[in-house]
Amino acid sequence: MVQGIAVVGSLNMDIVVTVDKLPAEGETLHGRGMSEVPGGKGANQAAAIGKLQTPVRMIGKVGTEGNGTALLRSLEDAGVDTSAVMKTPRAPTGIAVVTVDGDGHNHIIVVPGANGELSKEDIDFQRHVIEQCDIVILQLEVPLETVAYTLRLAKELGKTTVLNPAPARKLDEDILRYVDILIPNEHELQVMAKLDRIDKQTLEQAARQFMEHGVGAVIVTLGEEGCFYADCDRMVLYPARKVKATDTTAAGDSFIGGFVAGYLASRDADAAIRQAQIAAAITVTRHGAQSSLPTRQEVEAVQTEWNE
Ligand code: AMP
Repeated sequence: MVQGIAVVGSLNMDIVVTVDKLPAEGETLHGRGMSEVPGGKGANQAAAIGKLQTPVRMIGKVGTEGNGTALLRSLEDAGVDTSAVMKTPRAPTGIAVVTVDGDGHNHIIVVPGANGELSKEDIDFQRHVIEQCDIVILQLEVPLETVAYTLRLAKELGKTTVLNPAPARKLDEDILRYVDILIPNEHELQVMAKLDRIDKQTLEQAARQFMEHGVGAVIVTLGEEGCFYADCDRMVLYPARKVKATDTTAAGDSFIGGFVAGYLASRDADAAIRQAQIAAAITVTRHGAQSSLPTRQEVEAVQTEWNE
């Protein structure tokens, strides 16, 4: 029986400030506007899965103030079960302060807050959620020791594990050996595999290296170039869908959500990647993060249109 997906990760309130130009050191400028939008890589990926009507539960931590409540509400609106998101009085809800200038360049400061409090004990407390799912997905916006502990527990319980190693950092074998499917983007791959360039040869080389360390399969997202897939039988480049991109925010989260939802349904990486690329292609044609993630009906409409 298919049970669903557990996302173990971060929830942030993104405070987005738009300015004509970014201030120099010591300079004070007037911003053009400010908005607060739900974010955090964990929450974005959970929302992407929920909007595809795939059963998904989030394990994470928020503060007791209004931001936490608002984040939970937005996840619930996307169809995510938030009963395993804990509230702590010890830290505020995570925030990301994003400054965007007139040319679309941005600066981001993340204050992890409650995300940094997600502990191994919390995972033990929510063990039933891991037991009741088929696939566990994690990113690196919660403490690394919690990520390592969860991956190991999930493997011991016979679950499929997916790791999106974001934000980028080098990971050792003790973590990689518990990862079934590793999904970095180009930058994350460069940091993890210490590459100075990305091409067919370095992609294949890096994928082989991860698989030697125990990773089952590797998917590298390559922006408008699509993605690269490698497992022990095959290495394939999937070109991206041709669309007019207006805002690539959340493309990676949309891809990952589309992939795991597809993989849960079919256990076929090829079919899951096709769904992921459609979901991400829709996302890049729209502005925003969680608000740009497509619904199941929207993905199906494109699949019908493109005869898939
Ligand atoms: P990224 O996180 O930028 O590597 O993008 C994740 C996924 O989003 C890619 O693997 C593509 O499937 C999709 N994507 C990103 N940018 C574009 C684009 N300009 N056009 C179509 N698809 C895109």
